[in-house]
Amino acid sequence: MSRFVVLVHYHELGLKGRNRPSFERQLIKNITVALKAVEPASEIRRTSGRILVYPSSYKQGRAALAVLVKLPGVARVSLGEQVARSLDAINPAALRALERSEPFASFKVAARRANTDFELDSMTLNRELGSYLVEHTEGKTVRMKEPDVTVHLEIIKNLAYVYAVSERAIGGLPVGTAGRLICLLSSGLDSPVAAWQMIRRGAEVVGLHFSGAPETPDSSSYLVRRIADALEPFGGLFALYVVHFGGYQRQIALAVPEKLRIIFYRRLMFAVASALALRIGAKGLVTGESLGQVASQTLDNIVAVDAVATLPVLRPLIGTDKQEIIQRAEQLGTFEISAQGTEDCCTLFMPRNPETHARLGEVEALWQELPHAQWVEEILGVLLP
Ligand code: ATP
Ligand code: MG
Repeated sequence: MSRFVVLVHYHELGLKGRNRPSFERQLIKNITVALKAVEPASEIRRTSGRILVYPSSYKQGRAALAVLVKLPGVARVSLGEQVARSLDAINPAALRALERSEPFASFKVAARRANTDFELDSMTLNRELGSYLVEHTEGKTVRMKEPDVTVHLEIIKNLAYVYAVSERAIGGLPVGTAGRLICLLSSGLDSPVAAWQMIRRGAEVVGLHFSGAPETPDSSSYLVRRIADALEPFGGLFALYVVHFGGYQRQIALAVPEKLRIIFYRRLMFAVASALALRIGAKGLVTGESLGQVASQTLDNIVAVDAVATLPVLRPLIGTDKQEIIQRAEQLGTFEISAQGTEDCCTLFMPRNPETHARLGEVEALWQELPHAQWVEEILGVLLP
């Protein structure tokens, strides 16, 4: 009997031996949740080294594939049929796979035997199946190099899979296998990409946004919520917290030299993020900084801000170029949201000439004069009532 099947491949090599069962369990859980919207009725199963999803129709299989190629931990997704292990069943299934690939001009067959107990070896299978397909189609040519369509045949223990649709997926590790992080998430271009890079490495990422409210309209938090929605199909944020930061910025602006304002805003953000992390079990912070990109992202300034953090600060974009970040943001669909640019807390009370080489000693001395611990408590009281 033939049934439609979606084959979910993951990078086995990336999975450490002992952890593998838990990675697979988590991936199946994530697949189940991700497919709920598409087709709650799909049956999901694990076999050796891959996960199988049985959709109720080819169309549903297509919809499932579109969801699964975006899911962290999935390396490749194929869609086709599962049939009995005989040429009588394989041949017509391969023909159906070809027909579903119209329009095309050339094709080839790529057969693989996972079990050598099948009577035909892969060379023979390629030949037999190839000539059947040539005989049953018209005007199609077999081409070994870069054909329009490749019909894959995989022979396993007691079944065969036949498919002509196979798409590369996003890769990475299943969300929920790497612990929790807090990402300082602005409505800008960089931090959404940074958040997603850690999501793709399997982390549960909690977004923490600082809006300029009540000193500015709260439009940046609206954009950040849209960014969170855009990330949802790609693994998603675990949660999102928004801090009304404008009032604190006003107090900082009054208390420290103009040049140092940004450093102090950032310090308070890191202090809040560190305290929140302790309360919600996060083990590190994430920012979207890229070395030297703007005045605040020099090494001296990173040193002056980092000293406040009580947890490791991960900067997945530190060595990337703007162009690479833009490409990724376009793929994630966050680019057009960030491009709308709006006032967030960082455009508020901005210095005309920001410090590019802050001295840690001077910054620490000024920091001691601020009621920062009290501010952090106050902000946490609002975030975690
Ligand atoms: P982005 O494109 O992520 O906004 P940026 O190029 O504007 O970054 P900065 O303004 O120096 O650079 O911000 C550096 C990092 O500080 C950001 O990537 C983000 O992690 C954090 N950050 C900045 N502003 C905010 C904010 N309003 N809320 C939360 N985090 C912020
Ligand atoms: Mg920004």
